[in-house]
Amino acid sequence: MTSKHVLNLSSILEFFKDDAKLVARGENAVESGHVKDMAFDGELLIICGNVLASMRDRLYKVEIKLDTDKCIEEVSCTGPRGQLVCHHMAALSIFGYHNISVTDITCTWKSRKPHTNAVQTGF
Ligand SMILES: [Zn+2]
Repeated sequence: MTSKHVLNLSSILEFFKDDAKLVARGENAVESGHVKDMAFDGELLIICGNVLASMRDRLYKVEIKLDTDKCIEEVSCTGPRGQLVCHHMAALSIFGYHNISVTDITCTWKSRKPHTNAVQTGF
């Protein structure tokens, strides 16, 4: 059976093996809805998305380049850690692992805003 994921879970773990805590923090960020949006380019094999910083109200842009073996080839993040690996990268990897399947050529995802105050207007 072939995997339906464009990204292998093992490759995520391999990529973050020097700092396994980042995977746990990334998972946490996904569960907290910190991945605000994501786009996948099936031709270039690039996942990009915006991840909310844990402390401040800021978004960091994360880009993940995959290779044809469904492994992480290159990752970048606009966060303060610069070229080092960070949990924003882990968060987008995990989010991508769960949401992108091989049948997706090019797709975008947007998470809903947690606050829906706008509903109140008009009453
Ligand atoms: Zn980062």
